[in-house]
Amino acid sequence: MTAQTAMQKTVPKAKSEALRLLAEVGIEDDIVVKIHKTTASALGQYRGASQFRSGTTFWISPDVPAVLVREGIAASMLEDVIVDTILHEYGHVLWEFLRIRSHLNPKAERLWEDVRALSTGSEDDDEEGFAENFGLAVSGREQSPVHLAFARRFGELLKEDR
Ligand SMILES: [Zn+2]
Repeated sequence: MTAQTAMQKTVPKAKSEALRLLAEVGIEDDIVVKIHKTTASALGQYRGASQFRSGTTFWISPDVPAVLVREGIAASMLEDVIVDTILHEYGHVLWEFLRIRSHLNPKAERLWEDVRALSTGSEDDDEEGFAENFGLAVSGREQSPVHLAFARRFGELLKEDR
């Protein structure tokens, strides 16, 4: 199977699995996942502000299979790696939603304050750290009740907003 075929077969499965995991933590959302070149050769990328426009959209790099080869990771891990990438990027969706909606919605403001209370440094580092911890918590790779609680509260906000 070529890398391209593997990606075409695997990305829709990874999308379904990511949505299932998000639903398990209380987030019922719809997302668009496209195979598309990312900037800065990231595995995946959230299309900033798409959740407020055409629909929450992620790009997954067509180079993911090549990255697995380079890193010595088994090809059978492709779906898991893409699921983890989507869940990490979804952490950025949550962050962006709260950053923008906190000015408009008191519930979002309270959640944003609690998320920001984990702050350790610069806003960029905090966002990246949050996305990483959120993704690991939702996938179940790490136990983080605090991130799962954030997910549930975000899921409730979404029900009112989307
Ligand atoms: Zn990130």
